[in-house]
Amino acid sequence: MTLRLLPETTVNRIAAGEVVERPASAVKELVENSLDAGAVRIDVVIRDGGRTLISVADDGAGMTAAELELAVRRHATSKLPGDDLENIATLGFRGEALPSIGAVSRLEITSRPQGAAEAWMLSLEGGRADAPRPASGGPGTRVEVRDLFFATPARLKFLKTPRTETSHALDAVKRLAMAHPEAAFSVSDGERSLLKLAPAEGDLFAARLDRLAAIMGREFAENALAVEAEREGVRLTGHIGLPTLNRGTAAMQFLFVNGRPVRDKLLFGAVRGAYRDLLAGDRHPLLALFVDAPPGAVDVNVHPAKTEVRFRDAGLVRGLIVGALKHALAEAGHRASTTVAAAALGAARPEGGTTAFPGARPTGAARGMSAVGRGLAERAAAYHAPLPDLEAPPAAKEAEEPGEAPADYPLGVARGQLHATYVVAQTADGVVIVDQHAAHERLVYERMKKALANQGVARQGLLIPEVVELGEDGAASLAARADELGDLGLMIEPFGSGAVVVREMPALLGEADVQGLVRDLADEIAEYDEALALKERLADVCGTMACHGSVRAGRRLNVAEMNALLREMEATPHSGQSNHGRPTYVELKLADIERLFGRR
Ligand code: ADP
Ligand code: MG
Repeated sequence: MTLRLLPETTVNRIAAGEVVERPASAVKELVENSLDAGAVRIDVVIRDGGRTLISVADDGAGMTAAELELAVRRHATSKLPGDDLENIATLGFRGEALPSIGAVSRLEITSRPQGAAEAWMLSLEGGRADAPRPASGGPGTRVEVRDLFFATPARLKFLKTPRTETSHALDAVKRLAMAHPEAAFSVSDGERSLLKLAPAEGDLFAARLDRLAAIMGREFAENALAVEAEREGVRLTGHIGLPTLNRGTAAMQFLFVNGRPVRDKLLFGAVRGAYRDLLAGDRHPLLALFVDAPPGAVDVNVHPAKTEVRFRDAGLVRGLIVGALKHALAEAGHRASTTVAAAALGAARPEGGTTAFPGARPTGAARGMSAVGRGLAERAAAYHAPLPDLEAPPAAKEAEEPGEAPADYPLGVARGQLHATYVVAQTADGVVIVDQHAAHERLVYERMKKALANQGVARQGLLIPEVVELGEDGAASLAARADELGDLGLMIEPFGSGAVVVREMPALLGEADVQGLVRDLADEIAEYDEALALKERLADVCGTMACHGSVRAGRRLNVAEMNALLREMEATPHSGQSNHGRPTYVELKLADIERLFGRR
């Protein structure tokens, strides 16, 4: 056995295994370097998925010939002036990227410091550097990586198709661009432009929203809520999507810590927690969140790729995120995403969006919808007066003038009910269609949550206690949860074998179908994980309860009841979506209805 120190080229190749996993990681490192150099214009070219060429050109600080020589040496960095790992203000700091990339490719760097008369170029092949030589080039730096992984054929085999690699690389640029709206970015594959971002202007929120819109889509920007909160020096800003705008994966969730894109379990978990009762488990919101923590509160030196971080106080960060997101979502009130109406219109149009009507402009119509719903939350805020209770005797509410102006209410005035399931209301400039059951389910849930947090759930005694036959198992599993059900307003006791007797019901259900409710609850509870408290399954329990409550689908409502439902929706947080992230109502503007009929 010969124990020896490995030569630098071998060490760099080993490090490259971690730092340069695929072309996208090289692109990320190079663009980070450009940003660290203060660039405000960064142009990226990715050929053949980055295999034949990755080129990153910037207008940053540039390097002298001497700096060029050092830059490609291992652990050479200009970014730790005081050797202070606790105080990292740049994206880079490990001094590994250039030597690692250079160890597994043919690397060429041309650079000219701002104000210098000439540029210098340095090439590196398989880790061996030539001396820098004079070259032509403007101020800034251009790094060209050719034949990535030619020196490590094993890695080459793991590359996916050029298209997949390109999309990963593009994704890396997009993430960095989100955190740097002040800089212009372009990405091309050598022939076509894949991304072009102009520098965004305005204050932090305006510039960022502009940039997010360019990357995540207009739809997101139009349905995003601004978030801003701070706790013990840790600051959270960003934009989060309404729950009704959701996706099947978390791919549209972008998280940043001190300007660094991260994929951190803690942060993703906090987001899930904040949306928990607004979305079904397999749906994901869209968002971009920026955490800024003082040095010392966060460690970014966890992994060579720097996409993981460690917080000194993870609980604090989690609490900050969950609290701020919940607050922003509650503020949004009953607002549902504009895409809901657009989708509805798309479906209503023949052939899913194209129309044969002359003069009709389907795409224009879809775009016209984008303003729908905006401002509703603001207007709704004006109606926080005490609301008529849904369960109040109808007679008391019949007093509402039939001629009441729809303009007075964001969700309008009820005009009728269709199929004993949908409430149709007229607003100042459109029509609102409410899924009465979905809406009521959500209202029951929100009320139940509020009641649990305050004085407890109000109960209503039954005139005649009801005996419900459930069979041995059902009765036993329900009886085992009697205390918990009592907290939720449902008082049951075992009754002989295989039955329970119900004495009191949650008042907020109104006139409920006791037999159906208790049977369904017994079935569901039997399936729940016994370790889980019913309160943790509150959305499910409330869903079941609402199914048997007074506003279930198929139940006729009078005008007063319908209006009471609309008013309560306006005043209730999160009432724009069901417990599963589906919309509870759709609003169609008159202008859009006119387009449907080709009148515009
Ligand atoms: P790190 O970024 O961790 O310092 P790198 O290997 O990525 O390590 O880069 C080494 C050094 O080269 C940097 O510290 C910086 O001084 C210099 N450098 C790299 N890229 C650029 C660039 N685009 N413009 C100016 N200087 C650069
Ligand atoms: Mg770097």
